[in-house]
Amino acid sequence: MVIYTWYFNDNEKGTKTVRRYVEKIESILTETPLDIHEDTYAAVEGLRAIYAHVDGKERLIVDGNKSFRFKGDIAGGKSGIRVCPMDHENRVALNRDFAYTAPTALGRDVASFGCGDRLGIAGIGQLRAIAKTKVRPVLAQQSLRELSLTGRTYEDILDAASWAVFKSGYKGGYGADGDHLKSLEEIETALDHGVSMITLDCSLVLEDVPEDEKERAGAYAQLPADYRERVEKEYLQDEELRDLGIDFDQATLENTVLVYRKAVDLATEVYQLIKKKRLRVDLEISLDETTHTTDLTAHYFVANELDENLVKINSLAPRFVGEFQKAIDYIGDVDAFQEDLRAHCKIADHFGYKISIHSGSDKFMAFPSIARETKGRFHLKTSGTSWLEAVRVISQCDPALYRDMHQAALENLDRARAFYAVHCDTSKIRPLDEVADEDLPKYMQEDDARQLLHITYGYMLKENEEIHSRICKVLSEHIDEYTAALEKHIEKHLHLLDCV
Ligand SMILES: [Zn+2]
Repeated sequence: MVIYTWYFNDNEKGTKTVRRYVEKIESILTETPLDIHEDTYAAVEGLRAIYAHVDGKERLIVDGNKSFRFKGDIAGGKSGIRVCPMDHENRVALNRDFAYTAPTALGRDVASFGCGDRLGIAGIGQLRAIAKTKVRPVLAQQSLRELSLTGRTYEDILDAASWAVFKSGYKGGYGADGDHLKSLEEIETALDHGVSMITLDCSLVLEDVPEDEKERAGAYAQLPADYRERVEKEYLQDEELRDLGIDFDQATLENTVLVYRKAVDLATEVYQLIKKKRLRVDLEISLDETTHTTDLTAHYFVANELDENLVKINSLAPRFVGEFQKAIDYIGDVDAFQEDLRAHCKIADHFGYKISIHSGSDKFMAFPSIARETKGRFHLKTSGTSWLEAVRVISQCDPALYRDMHQAALENLDRARAFYAVHCDTSKIRPLDEVADEDLPKYMQEDDARQLLHITYGYMLKENEEIHSRICKVLSEHIDEYTAALEKHIEKHLHLLDCV
């Protein structure tokens, strides 16, 4: 059952309660310009909270006998209020008392939509779009690659997500994704910071298999005899597999075992770590960041071996046919993709988890197929597209800054390519000096320019202090435009995914 709430205090009792709290605040802060956002009101035993602009500054205002847990200025005496900065310490306190502001596991039965936020200001626009649908948000989705390229920490990411949830008034529950983590160590760090989802990227443990048939058979023969006996019985003689459209022969089995055996071991260790920590976490297995399309046999083998090891995963991301490049639409034959997806969904349904689609932003041609084949039960990740909407707003509001960003992107493109596989043909990007200011936003409609600005964010957000501070300044001045643009852009995704 889907549970989602766009929380408004629209019943009479709620409204009166909120009004009374607002009046109390107004009666205490009589001299200060106030803008209290009533739809963010939240209350638990011994504590009330609301989001407000106090003298132009963003503040959390709490009262009640638990309000001492928050750090802030006391106003109105002992039974007054506490006006608190929206910082890390208060975020931790907020998470503890108002559970909906802390990340939570979302489970297998509901569609979920992942959003990255490289600037820490995208959460509200993303939530506004998602709150209108039956999909649940995964907000703080950040890979280690993105963390290191932006110079941010898990604390920064979770602070931004928690405050965005509080400020938007969304109380339907959200996830936070430690994305593309590759080792137990990385995963433990993410878990200790409070993420509710782990995406295990298996690319480091996928083994290369000798192409020569004899060599391959030799490598396979070195595996323990009882292991080989078991998998041969399990995969070569199982009639049920044919119903799933899966057909192993000896060569396919040898190949699959050699490539994926260690991925199964690692995923099992990760699952055991999560269990040991007694955490409720959505575990996703990612096979997408490899050079090869994920065969159905490989998908089934990984899923079935995990099942044998009593590992319960929440989702699995295959690498589909065609190309899911960053920031642009699907490249390839949409019918072939749909057929491939259908077969992967069949396996996922058999084991009960969701199919996950990575680099899912802007894949408008593929969304109807995703909606149809997953029957609305999927996880889809987007990330850089929220950054590109910021770039689009900058190109409209501050042409000079856009030009400097574009130039910096061109200068750093080759370095950025080490982290991202994209086509990005710079010869197709019109030279900056030939483009008038009012035409700069058009760059964000062109694939090559989008990818150029998409993958070079690290050089603007971490290495170039001057550009970074100008970006923050212009976006804080135009935050409403950014939020509206983002809401519209994410909404377009959700609409085509048939979630609205
Ligand atoms: Zn991925």
